[in-house]
Amino acid sequence: MTDTGIVSERQVDAGIAEAGGLTLGGRRLAFLDRARIYACGVTPYDVTHLGHAATFVWVDALARTLRLIGVEAEICRNVTDVDDVLDEAAHRAGEPYDSFAAVQQYYFDRDMAALNTRAVQHEPRARRYVDQVIRLSSGLLAADAAYVRQGSVYFRGEPAVRRSGLDRGRALRLSAEYGGRPDDAAKDDPLDVAVWQAGEPGHPAWESPWGPGRPGWHAECAAMALSIFGTGVDVHAGGADLRFPHHAYHAAMAEAFTGVRPYARAWLHAGTVRVAGAKMAKSAGNLVLVRDLVNGHPAAAVRLMILDRPWGKDWDYSAALLETADKRLEDLYQAAGRTRTNPAAVPEIGRLLATDLSVAAAVDVGIEEGGAAARAVTAALGLS
Ligand SMILES: [Zn+2]
Repeated sequence: MTDTGIVSERQVDAGIAEAGGLTLGGRRLAFLDRARIYACGVTPYDVTHLGHAATFVWVDALARTLRLIGVEAEICRNVTDVDDVLDEAAHRAGEPYDSFAAVQQYYFDRDMAALNTRAVQHEPRARRYVDQVIRLSSGLLAADAAYVRQGSVYFRGEPAVRRSGLDRGRALRLSAEYGGRPDDAAKDDPLDVAVWQAGEPGHPAWESPWGPGRPGWHAECAAMALSIFGTGVDVHAGGADLRFPHHAYHAAMAEAFTGVRPYARAWLHAGTVRVAGAKMAKSAGNLVLVRDLVNGHPAAAVRLMILDRPWGKDWDYSAALLETADKRLEDLYQAAGRTRTNPAAVPEIGRLLATDLSVAAAVDVGIEEGGAAARAVTAALGLS
């Protein structure tokens, strides 16, 4: 950023910040004193990789920015410990799914703490919300948004797909990729998804009015979000790959149950982290683990590497990128030692962060203006 002067557009944004609001995805959000943020959390079946971590570091940056403008963020980050992928991983490890998940959860918490991500206020575990999923299922049946077949309760998915703007072919492909079982012959429509899945061997099961079974993935999150925050949230966050089907179905179930629309005032879909153009995935053998990164570099540099870009854009991790973040962090620390600061620079940092979390621009101002401005951006983003 070369122009650090205050221009009229920024003065407008300053007004928003002072009024307790921020822009997210180009949308202006007003807050009084509290913001409800639901972040789709991890399925604790594997170690934390950079792709997971990036989402939660962005949620943390959002919460810190809200605090900067006088709004207390209340974050709910769930743990999906009832999940078919988790069941398979636990089975391979020869452990019960719940104790297997608890160990993986410990590693996740350790990695998040290493990245200076603050503890969240609510951390519901899916297996403690089975009763709420049963109630959600009953409510969706009463609203005629779902139907019962062979011990499962299926949610009618077509309206959610229509609202997502995806064509049917792509929706079906994504549904298959994310465990939606479009080939399940019991459904009226392949795009319908299980709110309640009838019991199957190799999976945990609970009693329900429709027989033994387990919650569906989207229904778990919908039940946890509604149980903790009521009818909706201010911001729903998660990785970009959760946009469909997970978030589309979650929102549709919540809205069908409560009758309140929209379920979320805004969405924060953190860009996908790739390696040499490929999405990070265990199956691709290209996982970059948080633990390895923080062993060789300051955790603040890893954090800055994640945040030093537009939050919604996909990006490629490389060792060179981390070196750049190392250097930029060092520049910021050195700038913080200067004694003189342009008095306009400190509020400018707040304005930039409250304007779609413009971290890169705020860091630029910190490095260029130095002194209190550099210290302000370091503190605001948890980079010390
Ligand atoms: Zn979720």
